Amino acid sequence: MTLEEKVGKTLDELGVSDAASVEALFNEVRARMLEELDSFKRLGGRTPVWKPDVSRPESSPYRPGTTPDNQGPTFQFPSTRLRVKWLGRKSGILSSIDEHWLKPAPKHLKPIVGRAFNRLRQEAAVEILGEAAVAEGQAPSTTAPDLTLPGYRRPLGSIHPVMRVQREIEDIFLGLGFSIETGPEIESVYYNFDALNIPESHPARDDFDTIYVDAQTVLRTHTSPVQMRAMEKYGAPLYIIAPGKCYRRDNPDSTHSPMFHQIEGLAIDTDITFADLKGTLDFFAKKFFGEKVRTSFHPSFFPFTEPSGEVAVSCFACDGQGCRVCKQSGWIELGGCGMVHSEVLRHGGIDPDRYSGWAFGLGTDRFTMIKYDIPDIQLFFQGDVRFLEQF
Ligand SMILES: [Zn+2]
Repeated sequence: MTLEEKVGKTLDELGVSDAASVEALFNEVRARMLEELDSFKRLGGRTPVWKPDVSRPESSPYRPGTTPDNQGPTFQFPSTRLRVKWLGRKSGILSSIDEHWLKPAPKHLKPIVGRAFNRLRQEAAVEILGEAAVAEGQAPSTTAPDLTLPGYRRPLGSIHPVMRVQREIEDIFLGLGFSIETGPEIESVYYNFDALNIPESHPARDDFDTIYVDAQTVLRTHTSPVQMRAMEKYGAPLYIIAPGKCYRRDNPDSTHSPMFHQIEGLAIDTDITFADLKGTLDFFAKKFFGEKVRTSFHPSFFPFTEPSGEVAVSCFACDGQGCRVCKQSGWIELGGCGMVHSEVLRHGGIDPDRYSGWAFGLGTDRFTMIKYDIPDIQLFFQGDVRFLEQF
């Protein structure tokens, strides 16, 4: 006998005449209900079941599980089936139990059947209606997103301060008619040293404390190799700046980093003199630091320039009076510069009797530290958002 058949008979017809049998009967019903709920949950509660019967007045045309015109085959969610089967007003199992078991029950069994029935009805309401409500989205549901809520606002990044300054410097030189040239960061020993007039025995190779990849390959120690590559590529006349990363075996401290940024400048043409270099760097310093600053040049030595110099700018913060920014000297060192060595021109395939040129190298990180009054170069490379989001 199926459960549906059982609930259509009275207790008398089923031969149930004592409390223990009533208990056993309700346990059987409860077990069956939980079993069906279980398989419903295993299906995820949302697997549609095709059902040819369209006469379902309890369904709204706009609920899931119905077709709007109620024509032809429709499909139901299992939750609807469960609800109708167990809790349906006319033919639901609980209604049948009420009708056939409770109402005609003999007087001595009535309180027992009544208690068991109430318990079952409460359980069914919680289990079946609870599940059905979630499946059909009638209760607050975790599965259906609220499309009317505002979207996620993802934070926009900002340009890294060193890149911001690099672009600022690039802009000034682009305005002067220079173009931007780049080169590889993993560079041959030839381009990094030999072509730049730094022979094997030269102490500068030690001074650079180079990171060698192998005997013939280095992580470039400066952006100067781009000079050579540009000369070979374009010949003269040539006006370029070459920004980029460089690498040296420096221990990290507040002013040193094994990876740092440089901007190289190179101008080659007929009749280029040191005066052109001074004029260009003076113009650049005034554009970058403000019209008030003055530049100053001091002799220096680099193997790839002759003569060589260091350029300094009067302190933009104290106007040369001496302050914390300029370490009380009134001047801020900008970088090295000089007239391109004739050997270097020759290595680049340019006739030094016809052409001359100047070059400079600036530390972009240092410029950024000066501009934004940043005390420690390490802050640039630690990736701390609290620092970076200020720019
Ligand atoms: Zn100062």
